[in-house]
Amino acid sequence: MVTSVSILGSTGSIGRQSLDVISRMPIRISALTAGSNVARMAEQCRQFRPDLAVMATEEAAMELRSVIADLPTKVTWGEEGLIEAATMESADCVITAVVGMLGLKPTLAAIRAGKRIGLANKETLVCAGELVMAEAEKYGTEIVPVDSEHSAIFQCLMGVGHKREVRRLILTCSGGPFFGMDREQLRSVTKADALKHPNWKMGAKITIDCATLMNKGLEVIEAMRLYRLPLEQVDVVIHRQSIVHSFVECVDGAVMAQMGTPDMRLPIQLALTYPERTACPVDRLDLTKCGNLSFCEPDMEAFPCLALARQCAQKGGTACSVMNGANEAAVALFLEDKIGFYDIYDLVKGAVDVVPFIPDPTLEQILEADRLAREYVFRHSVN
Ligand code: NDP
Ligand code: MG
Repeated sequence: MVTSVSILGSTGSIGRQSLDVISRMPIRISALTAGSNVARMAEQCRQFRPDLAVMATEEAAMELRSVIADLPTKVTWGEEGLIEAATMESADCVITAVVGMLGLKPTLAAIRAGKRIGLANKETLVCAGELVMAEAEKYGTEIVPVDSEHSAIFQCLMGVGHKREVRRLILTCSGGPFFGMDREQLRSVTKADALKHPNWKMGAKITIDCATLMNKGLEVIEAMRLYRLPLEQVDVVIHRQSIVHSFVECVDGAVMAQMGTPDMRLPIQLALTYPERTACPVDRLDLTKCGNLSFCEPDMEAFPCLALARQCAQKGGTACSVMNGANEAAVALFLEDKIGFYDIYDLVKGAVDVVPFIPDPTLEQILEADRLAREYVFRHSVN
């Protein structure tokens, strides 16, 4: 089990659930980071006494500093602060729970510092998966997924002898709040409708990604990178109940599943205790009461983001970085009520078509592709 943890994005949905898990374990907190929520960060500092607290801006950091002036916690800000949190000498594990591609540089820094990564920040693997995995291999760093589907696959793979015995990974997908709707019905859905996820309570960005099914597209790419498998070996099945968190199909036809009530605290805790398991306060799954479990194919026509993500995954290079950057920008605009539901897809597709493709990009080229993608979205959303 790890002994001291830094959490990047501690005030968010995954960050708070991580602290809830850690509060019951003999684990200390090295560093906590947040964007602008000073009040929540101050509360967390009082409870967990980190060595370091990081805010997004100098202004927020100054405010935090004055609120917790009586604590020994060092307070800093910005990307440098995030990297300092990710590389703290005292931490042996970093939970990456910031949202979006801003997690990339700190994750790379943590990998190079040899920290175990509890990886929630999937955008990092989508935009620079090859690079991140190559660095992890080079530095012998463990990456334990926190995303429920990838944790499920990780758990199933504990029972598989060798990668060549795997035929397919099958990611389950709840279908989101708009399951069953067609293109016509989807044209008029609002932000409020999209923010109502049936089974999970999460941050706003991922909740919108679940409504467009882009989240599942990002997860297909995340799975390909984490488990080093080609696109043909990663499938998606709609499973409304979110009880089976994913499957691994073996070459002999055996299908392994990891099941449980939907609660992120289990995969978070496993990222800290692996290879052991310890008691966790999640509701137990009662198979006699959970009702029928259903499975069906995703509707790629009504939810074209999933198909687009698969195309980008096939293309490789900067295609996924452009798709991810454009999607982050478009979702932010949708959350500001500036664009409609299908504008997200149209803008992301436009960026993927227009931003120059680079087959084997460096980190700088990935960052540039991300920048151009965001620029495309802003330029084409102003009317
Ligand atoms: P939230 O939006 O709830 O939390 C995001 C965190 O990042 C907050 O701590 C926020 O701080 C911080 N943050 C936001 N902007 C900045 C910034 N500019 N600089 C530094 N920090 C910033 O997101 P989630 O917890 O839902 O998701 C986090 C990641 O985990 C995402 O990549 C998501 O895809 C992934 N994930 C989440 C799941 C979930 O159940 N929520 C499930 C599986 C994966 P502040 O509070 O101050 O804004
Ligand atoms: Mg998931």
